Amino acid sequence: MSLDVPALQIVRYPDPALRRKSAVIDPSDPVVRQVALRMIELMHDADGVGLAAPQVGLAWRLFVTNARDADPTDRVFINPTLTLARGAAEADEEGCLSVPDIRVQVRRAPAARIEAIDIDGRPVVMEAEGFLARVWQHESDHLDGVLIIDRMSPLDRLTLRSTIRALEQAAPVAPMAGARRRTGA
Ligand SMILES: [Zn+2]
Repeated sequence: MSLDVPALQIVRYPDPALRRKSAVIDPSDPVVRQVALRMIELMHDADGVGLAAPQVGLAWRLFVTNARDADPTDRVFINPTLTLARGAAEADEEGCLSVPDIRVQVRRAPAARIEAIDIDGRPVVMEAEGFLARVWQHESDHLDGVLIIDRMSPLDRLTLRSTIRALEQAAPVAPMAGARRRTGA
């Protein structure tokens, strides 16, 4: 696969890449490691706590995190599966690097267990609650084409209607890039 990894950038809503369902990838492919490292770089540049492959235009089941105080380590999750804890969902504010200038209340499971492959090809299992479990759920949503604007409350939906419409109207642009993207959507 030819992929210009250093050129990868964060795509923004309503880029169709954000709506694809991502596919399982081969963790031993060297390009996967390069992409993961580039995504960590982009996540830090954007001051984010997580970034999923669809956010750089790739329909891959891969995300990276650095959840600050909750887990201040750069981590790579390849082909992750998430098991959500039962129990009352908790609402908290979330933003998304691909949906700029919007913060919404999102209800999430209070705890989760994640199983994945790390950047060195080793299986990893982690459990978390609260903020870190929330980050995993947010990033896992990206792998299924789900965004925070799909999960926001009716009140947020009303309040942010014009902001979201403005994002949709500010959409890209270059006719060729647009046509190519639509074909792949
Ligand atoms: Zn996001």
